[in-house]
Amino acid sequence: MRHTDVAVIGAGVLGCFAARALSALNLHITVLEQREDVCTGVTRANTGIIYSGYDNHPGSLKARLCARANASFDRLCEELDIRFSRCGSLMVAFGPHAEAVLEQKLENGLASGVAGLRIVEGDELFALEPNLSHAATRGLFAPGTGVVNPWELGIAAYENAAANGVEFRFCERLLRMERSEGGFLLETEQEVYRAKIVINCAGLSADAVREMLCLPTVRIFPTGADYLVLDDTVQGFFQHVIFHEPEEKGKGLTLVPTVDGNLLVGPTERGRDLAPDGATAASGLRWLTELCAKVAPSLPLSEQIRSFSALRPNPRTVREEGGVWVPEDRSINDFTLYQDNGLISLLGIKTPGLTCAAELGRLCAEFTAETLGFPGNNPRFHPNRRGVRRLHGMDEAQRAALVREDPNYGDILCVCRDVSRGEILEAIRRGAVTLDGVKRRTGAGMGRCQGARCLSDVLELLARAQRIPPEAVTLDGEGSPVLGAKYGTC
Ligand SMILES: Cc1cc2nc3c(=O)[nH]c(=O)nc-3n(C[C@H](O)[C@H](O)[C@H](O)COP(=O)(O)OP(=O)(O)OC[C@H]3O[C@@H](n4cnc5c(N)ncnc54)[C@H](O)[C@@H]3O)c2cc1C
Repeated sequence: MRHTDVAVIGAGVLGCFAARALSALNLHITVLEQREDVCTGVTRANTGIIYSGYDNHPGSLKARLCARANASFDRLCEELDIRFSRCGSLMVAFGPHAEAVLEQKLENGLASGVAGLRIVEGDELFALEPNLSHAATRGLFAPGTGVVNPWELGIAAYENAAANGVEFRFCERLLRMERSEGGFLLETEQEVYRAKIVINCAGLSADAVREMLCLPTVRIFPTGADYLVLDDTVQGFFQHVIFHEPEEKGKGLTLVPTVDGNLLVGPTERGRDLAPDGATAASGLRWLTELCAKVAPSLPLSEQIRSFSALRPNPRTVREEGGVWVPEDRSINDFTLYQDNGLISLLGIKTPGLTCAAELGRLCAEFTAETLGFPGNNPRFHPNRRGVRRLHGMDEAQRAALVREDPNYGDILCVCRDVSRGEILEAIRRGAVTLDGVKRRTGAGMGRCQGARCLSDVLELLARAQRIPPEAVTLDGEGSPVLGAKYGTC
């Protein structure tokens, strides 16, 4: 049996930031993750926006955390050495109904202290975004909105937490949990753990994990989402994140100029049944294309290089009816955090969960210190972490210096994204065990050819590093063989 002070379940962005915040305390912390790597769940596929906070009901936990998180995001990204573009956003209306929504959001934002919010129209609107359809009537400009690469954020928190002494245990699925004297017993396929506190960050399974000990109160009812990705040849088409507020009831379009220079289009909101998990729905992609024609008619959709899908962890209050737990009609709009005598559950944390991950992590550390009594500071704690050095964006002198230091940086494997062998080896050294793990750390395979040219090299490096046959290397964990054989990572 292994002993730990705090067990964190799940290594998505929330689990990684909970671990990072806890690592400032003088405690032994263990993170149990069922998959082979971090950020493979909800964190894998989202929009990457750092929200300013005008969307949330003033005074709500979401509004308070979002305003705080946004204000401190530059510092967080400096500490973790990740790219952050505070590009601002425009929420655009095409008629009176949507204009009224913009006014309401402006009021919300002002009440929550969101800085710089204002309504723009006419020449000013189109000077900000010349490629926006000229049928747009008004916009809500939020200069504080930003964008990150969500993988970079979660992976940076993981590496920093691990460097501060947190123990990450991959391929360990929590199967059972029970209360025992002074805490909890947790059983995975490999081990039994005794922990004083459990932080449940299990994403889509956070309700199931909480129900190992408690009766249901909130359950997660996932819905699907689809995205399109346009190549970085469209870089500069939009300068800001564009939120389209529809005139009719329903969801609008979001267009995101990413930190990698390409344009993300989406997400849709659709039933999970419209496509198998992991697949996009044709109807969703069609809907995106149709809305693009309305919001940005000159957007060159021919530059599309990829589509992907996501799952939303929608929380809903449930009640028992004839032995079955059924959802209440109204959905929950705020973050749902439960504290059940030492079990802290972050349940169904949707947008802006990425924005608020560090703040939610801080809350988990505060709850822990309140419950256990302040354990003192971790003398090893350091908030800073250095990212994988990227050739892309370096000037000639910097590149030459790096290649002199390590010739692997002179061998470009991913031509589309300018990623060298050195970067890929460094990503593997830091924990990438799948092709997607390398992609999430370096960008290799994310360009126009989608890995057609670098796949075999990356696969060979992964196989060599893990001393496994190339056939055993997977795209993204168990059930995703690349060379056709039936191997798994966990
Ligand atoms: C479509 C979409 C768009 C979004 N866009 C934005 C945005 O633009 N900005 C923003 O701020 N937020 C956004 N969000 C919200 C944000 O992505 C989420 O709040 C966040 O990623 C949730 O992270 P998580 O750690 O809770 O979940 P996950 O990333 O799913 O992590 C949970 C982890 O728990 C593990 N796990 C589960 N069960 C067990 C078990 N029994 N044992 C061990 N491990 C287990 C899983 O393998 C997984 O790795 C978006 C969300 C969606 C769905």
